[in-house]
Amino acid sequence: MPTAMEIYKLLPKKNCGECKFPTCLAFAMQLANQKVALAACPYVSPEAKVALEESGAPPIKLVTFGTADAAAKIGDETQLFRHDKAFFHPTVLGIIADDAEGIDMVKAKLETARSLSFERVGQIIRVDSVAVRHSTGTPQEFLDAVRYAAGIGLPVTIMTEDPKLMAEALALCAPGRPLLYRATPQNFDDMITVAKACAFPLVIGGTASAEELSSLTEKAKKAGVVDLVLEPSGSTANDMLEKLTTIRRAAIKKKFRPLGYPTVTVLGKSPRDEIKAALGVMKYSSMVLMEDVSREFIYPLMALRQNIFTDPQVPIQVKAGLYKVGEPTDKSPVLFTSNFSLTYFTVRADIEKSKLPVWLLVVDTDGQSVMTAFAAGKLTPESVAKAIEAEKVKEKNTRNELMIPGQVSRMSGKLNELTNMKVVVGPRESSGLPKVLKAMSV
Ligand code: SF4
Repeated sequence: MPTAMEIYKLLPKKNCGECKFPTCLAFAMQLANQKVALAACPYVSPEAKVALEESGAPPIKLVTFGTADAAAKIGDETQLFRHDKAFFHPTVLGIIADDAEGIDMVKAKLETARSLSFERVGQIIRVDSVAVRHSTGTPQEFLDAVRYAAGIGLPVTIMTEDPKLMAEALALCAPGRPLLYRATPQNFDDMITVAKACAFPLVIGGTASAEELSSLTEKAKKAGVVDLVLEPSGSTANDMLEKLTTIRRAAIKKKFRPLGYPTVTVLGKSPRDEIKAALGVMKYSSMVLMEDVSREFIYPLMALRQNIFTDPQVPIQVKAGLYKVGEPTDKSPVLFTSNFSLTYFTVRADIEKSKLPVWLLVVDTDGQSVMTAFAAGKLTPESVAKAIEAEKVKEKNTRNELMIPGQVSRMSGKLNELTNMKVVVGPRESSGLPKVLKAMSV
């Protein structure tokens, strides 16, 4: 966003007050803080309007494809480093089905892609899209594959450099608003015509350098195709990382609009491609399309993506409360932990390993782990006692005993005083819980 002075220079300077601010400068200051809309001034010239809208646009354009129910959103990042603020739109992971594989294999692959999901720290993470590629199959085999992909329920990328075949494929899946892959220097004008007619986003690639890529995006923009995705070429992991970093740096640091678009990386299925996929998730691929669908590769990749795209300033939390693990009775043990999601799910999993029913009291620690919250004064004997009372633990459980994490053994005396419960110090690590719980022979 431009500064108030930069905005002021472009305003009419009539100081007429029609925008409900006494002067143009006052209006410019509100605009810089995004408290008013530019439309509130009726006298802004068309040139100033374009300039202000451009300078206020995000450094990397947000590009969306797919349907309202299943949309893939890429781009709209504002940082070079995650720790400076956060990364906002997780890398879209997609599986490529190639028409050379035959329609049965294509269908199987697409169905597998749809089923690849799992729950981690309370969030469902999954493969977000599929792509259908034309290689050595016949045009009809390609179109059959596109038709099948359109019914999968995931955003689709159509991969062919033949503009005529692309137009035919679009006729089969237009309601799904697919991503078009791709325009190159060789097919540029014809592919731009196809993209302009449907107004769907288009990948631009096949260039030798970022400079060539930027000149093509400028050409596409002039032709009226503005939803673009960049595919920088890169044969080695090193090369790929260098090009993706150059593009991100130019967009974020230099506000270089011709490279201010999301990026895509297309990979095969060799071990090197697996490394490249992980690299792309970390820096700076907005979308990674892969041929491999093996769970042992995709699941860790999705976990990595979840880690990278979690806001570092907002810990993932679970709701505070009294949770049942199994079917606890009024005689079952009561344990407590913090509401940091990772802690909760780790503790819960370790309790489940004991195969014993337990009450698990989750205390609100603002999403901090047990030790961090204890050190920060967010987990205290008072806050635990309050949670015990709020959740009516003593009404649900007559054992009158509370097991606390070994790391906070120091709070046992005070907690006993506040709750009149017998306080048992549990293991320092939750991995020790199954043994301790079994020893309690509940
Ligand atoms: Fe200035 Fe426009 Fe506001 Fe009038 S309406 S004071 S010209 S910003």
